[in-house]
Amino acid sequence: MQADVVVVGAGALGLSTALHCALNGQSVVVVERHAAGSQASGRAAGLFKSVQADELRTFLARRSIAMAISFGDWAGVPLEVARCGSFLIARTQRHEGFIRAEADQSRSWGVHLREATAGDLAGRVSYYRGSGDELAVWCPEDIYIEEPMSLVQAYLAACRLHGAEVLEDEAVAGVLVSGGRVTGIETTARRIAAPAVVDAAGAWVQQVAELAGAQIPIAPVRHQLLITAPLPEIDPAEPITRVADAAVYLRPARGGLMLGGFEPAPLPVDPRAEHASFSTADVPLDLGVLRGMAGQVAAEAPLAASAPVAEHRGGLFTMSPDGRFVVGPVPGVAGLWVASGCNGSGFSSSPAIGEALASWIATGSPPDGMAALAPGRFGALTDEALVEHGIWQYAHYYDPVTAD
Ligand SMILES: Cc1cc2nc3c(=O)[nH]c(=O)nc-3n(C[C@H](O)[C@H](O)[C@H](O)COP(=O)(O)OP(=O)(O)OC[C@H]3O[C@@H](n4cnc5c(N)ncnc54)[C@H](O)[C@@H]3O)c2cc1C
Repeated sequence: MQADVVVVGAGALGLSTALHCALNGQSVVVVERHAAGSQASGRAAGLFKSVQADELRTFLARRSIAMAISFGDWAGVPLEVARCGSFLIARTQRHEGFIRAEADQSRSWGVHLREATAGDLAGRVSYYRGSGDELAVWCPEDIYIEEPMSLVQAYLAACRLHGAEVLEDEAVAGVLVSGGRVTGIETTARRIAAPAVVDAAGAWVQQVAELAGAQIPIAPVRHQLLITAPLPEIDPAEPITRVADAAVYLRPARGGLMLGGFEPAPLPVDPRAEHASFSTADVPLDLGVLRGMAGQVAAEAPLAASAPVAEHRGGLFTMSPDGRFVVGPVPGVAGLWVASGCNGSGFSSSPAIGEALASWIATGSPPDGMAALAPGRFGALTDEALVEHGIWQYAHYYDPVTAD
């Protein structure tokens, strides 16, 4: 078997890259160890966020929102999105400062935003009762996808429509390198010759790179969310709310409420240190963490704290030392590419990341700004340093304010 491009991993990042390579006229094979979307991507909250900490991420996020909304037009497969907008809320002076600074810089990068009055907040969201003292910024561009698997299924259908082959339940066991250049991969079932291999293996991205003798600077860190049982009070058309000081997000989900958030001391998990068949289902979950977060917003969102939990799920983010994506050519092995360093936004930025990486692979030149995301930007870092930086980035998801 042979292809122009082999993609390792059928999560959102791998499938989007494969789809865009196919749209560029390349022959593509995706190899997935389990079922497509079964690891991080199928467990995501489905949130897309227009406010980001730097201009490049803002571009990728907004481009992705536009591509998700118009998915049927360019990919040829329908995709339903909830175009509900979001409120970004701060209840402390410190976080008001963060959000005002972020809102100002986001506006300068073209994001549509405005400060909301207490009346706006109360009028649009019934599940969150503001005190009237908070800062709320209305972000009308924000969307969500109710079931994350629907984006995975849309990518899969579009891949097949445009000629990309997706092999499931087949693990990549070797990356073939000759004279410092990738020549293909070996799976548990076959050998596939290819001049370009994209490592989009999510939390296993380091393991796959190591098969080629390369390193990827990320650290996997746990993230969790819960969905309450359906509640008659919840209007499914209501917006997302993000409470920056509690590092919590909320949205309507399956007739109830979804709550997720960023704990200050998150759990790093290195699949390389686990048994060979370790998968997301083995990531230890802790409902206590989410209960603590729900408690922090109990006065404003009492249903999130009191309603029975219908689903509790979690998985691993791939955190990078600077909080930005890790996308581009892997140093030292020509023809090996990576799409990782999701930092919690890989699902929602996957349309634009896949588009940019496919163009980079086809032309050999990075699209505007993308060179800044190349994996070679970091010097040598120990695993301990990667974990330390990754935890810091995770804990500061809502207050990074690090414009370039
Ligand atoms: C609870 C939770 C909520 C989240 N919410 C959001 C959100 O609202 N918005 C957002 O943008 N992001 C969110 N994220 C992050 C998002 O899920 C990730 O950024 C995104 O899914 C990463 O996609 P991926 O393709 O890199 O990884 P994955 O979806 O994990 O895909 C990688 C794939 O590679 C496969 N693989 C690994 N090793 C091999 C091998 N050797 N051979 C073949 N295949 C292999 C795996 O089986 C896996 O399917 C959330 C994550 C979690 C856990």
